[in-house]
Amino acid sequence: MQAFQASIFNLITETSTHLPADVQYSIRQAKEKEDAGTRAALALTTISQNIQMAEENVSPICQDTGMLTFKIKVPVGVNQIEMTKAIKKAVVEATKQGKLRPNSVDSLTGENSGDNLGEGVPVIQYEQWERNDIEVRLILKGGGCENKNIQYSLPCELEGLGRASRDLDGIRKCIMHSVFQAQGQGCSAGFIGVGIGGDRTSGYELAKKQLFREVTDTNPNEDLAKLEDYILENANTLSIGTMGFGGNTTLLGCKIGSMHRIPASFYVSVAYNCWAYRRQGVRIHVDSGEISDWLYQIEPQKEQAEPVDEIQSDEDKRQVVLKAPITEEQIRDLKVGDVVLISGLIHTGRDQIHKHLMDHDAPVDLEGGVLYHCGPVMLKDADGNWDVKAAGPTTSIREEPYQSDILKKFGIRAVIGKGGMGAKTLAGLQEHGAVYLNAIGGAAQYYADCITAVEGVDFEEFGVPEAMWHLRVKDFAAIVTMDAHGNSLHDDVEKSSLEKLAAHKEVVFK
Ligand code: SF4
Repeated sequence: MQAFQASIFNLITETSTHLPADVQYSIRQAKEKEDAGTRAALALTTISQNIQMAEENVSPICQDTGMLTFKIKVPVGVNQIEMTKAIKKAVVEATKQGKLRPNSVDSLTGENSGDNLGEGVPVIQYEQWERNDIEVRLILKGGGCENKNIQYSLPCELEGLGRASRDLDGIRKCIMHSVFQAQGQGCSAGFIGVGIGGDRTSGYELAKKQLFREVTDTNPNEDLAKLEDYILENANTLSIGTMGFGGNTTLLGCKIGSMHRIPASFYVSVAYNCWAYRRQGVRIHVDSGEISDWLYQIEPQKEQAEPVDEIQSDEDKRQVVLKAPITEEQIRDLKVGDVVLISGLIHTGRDQIHKHLMDHDAPVDLEGGVLYHCGPVMLKDADGNWDVKAAGPTTSIREEPYQSDILKKFGIRAVIGKGGMGAKTLAGLQEHGAVYLNAIGGAAQYYADCITAVEGVDFEEFGVPEAMWHLRVKDFAAIVTMDAHGNSLHDDVEKSSLEKLAAHKEVVFK
């Protein structure tokens, strides 16, 4: 079992730090399709750099470890109880070594277990097969994209598309709508797995199972193969783009499975996965416990030349250098589309910090400050100093109930996160003179590299991701997507993509 445990540790490390060949290929293709100089091209360039840095540093691609889900096929007679124990030990070790962020939280107390174990976590699903080796597949699916999963109950009425009936065309409409409603949040360009039929539980399971397929495979069911091709082509006409910045690529893959249902229910379940599509797999010898093969290693096509990142677009974009603390005048001068490079001290804060700050003072002076929605992966080095292993943005919309009040109470001038925020925050930015900056979701290595020092930490008792880290940064790049004049790029993209979605209202699959 010790060799099996080591094999699982290697699988976890590889999954967390190295995107599979088919995913990397899809991202390269997307990069080549974007017009150089656009926000989308900039985002894809950052993503590509991040993938490379994660590989070189053997560090997490994204700071959000997500939910660990193992799918395992075993020959008859293999001891699954012992295998589960070994898998859990490997998870604990990978967490200790900073390959995974401690990500398992007690739903009732909010306490982080600190080792990625907990009730029902990790998810380990066994299935018997007739081969005499073991296959283990692992996916790390982050919260940002998990929160964009959606389930439709047919028939239904869909915004922009009208009635979706209980037929193939109704299914088509649901899938198109699922891409629209994600609005690039959950870190597009993304991949979707779709489950048709089943019940509410098995439908979602079938959808997630599709994410274990190769990006370039062809569905054996002819109708579903056609539907997959249709969705991939047409979802990209919505121009939601990478990170929801607008652009040519929103979706990188669509895989659809179907199962029987009961007459009374007809579900279409969609599992959305971000570009950080961390899934790997191995075959393991039953006797030795050693890895014999890695899955997902086949490069779909020869590497293509990287395009030159020249400014060719007419997107209104300028670059502004800011040093924290920032003045109101500097902030009022910014507008949607500007790229800012921040240097100075920034402070992390996510769910627990926002809730706490509503009724308490801040532990440091936040006047003119920058608040970063981020739950980093941190490790102590041999001298007891904190080392940042991964530090990308987390989904900002969760802080919508608090953000405006917190800006006002502490005089914060900039909030960095991903996915944008709502109307209350937009009004708050305008009133108090602040901006929302969208960092590139998942670019955890890229942003960790901008951090020159960890100057302190407060609220460690909330756990590593939820604590307030005080980080000195240099040239931290982000895009103004909500400014102090009431403008929101997120609102603009949503409006234009809804108009484009409506063009897909007519019946396509009879
Ligand atoms: S890339 Fe985005 S959605 Fe994916 S795990 Fe990271 S933060 Fe979450």
